[in-house]
Amino acid sequence: MAAPVQAPDLHLDTELRVRNRGIRVQLDVPQRTESAAWFLPTARTLANRVIHIAVEDVAAAGEPISCKAGCGACCKQLVPILPSEARRIAQLVEEMPQPRQGVIRERFAQAAAAMQAAQVDGPLRKAANTLTPDQANALGMKYFEMGVSCPFLEEGSCSIYEERPLICREYLVSSPASECEWPTAERIRKVAIPAKVAQAAMQLEQDREGRRWVALTHSLDYAKAHPEPTDRAPAPELVTRFFNALADAKLPSGPGMGS
Ligand code: SF4
Repeated sequence: MAAPVQAPDLHLDTELRVRNRGIRVQLDVPQRTESAAWFLPTARTLANRVIHIAVEDVAAAGEPISCKAGCGACCKQLVPILPSEARRIAQLVEEMPQPRQGVIRERFAQAAAAMQAAQVDGPLRKAANTLTPDQANALGMKYFEMGVSCPFLEEGSCSIYEERPLICREYLVSSPASECEWPTAERIRKVAIPAKVAQAAMQLEQDREGRRWVALTHSLDYAKAHPEPTDRAPAPELVTRFFNALADAKLPSGPGMGS
């Protein structure tokens, strides 16, 4: 029997206008079903370019970014990441050599124990799909009070910098770094990101329990319980959904402090 004829990839070549600057997007889009993980590298590249524009603008306005290597105060926050990012993080940890892998796994276990003691673990696992923004922010405050750093934070720097989640890329402040010791919306000046790539990417994913995000510190458990994405769609549809969401000015802010 002859093999089925594979439809050729579509080629996307377009320019996004972001604060009067152009960002060229070129992408081969297969005419087959994909999970949102397929789009993640494109979302990361786009996020980096959008953030570059935001950084240029605050610098031009005389408000340079305070974030720098060795700070990491924001990495004690609740970090809401995409299900596909959680699976990628679990894969990264799995690929780490020993004894480093054991060190990182132990940090995840310690974070889980602290979350259970602070009674944020259950609500985050069960209700991440149903929390209102206010409830999510309240949980974010409780989480921050635990004082538990992200398992990947080392000497104030991100040890998985190139692989860090989209939401980590978008979190920048121009207020004094000391204010990040208690980063509420009143105390910090978050840099306005002109296109919400992380939030738009969140619209591509929804697991079988309805979650669009999970806490970074739940990544390993989450990936074990959800090893495969269940929300596949034709790749052209994923691309359309992403850019429609990106253009939606009413896209809600994500959970977390200072949002
Ligand atoms: S992944 Fe990196 S940037 Fe994100 S919270 Fe962890 S240490 Fe911080």
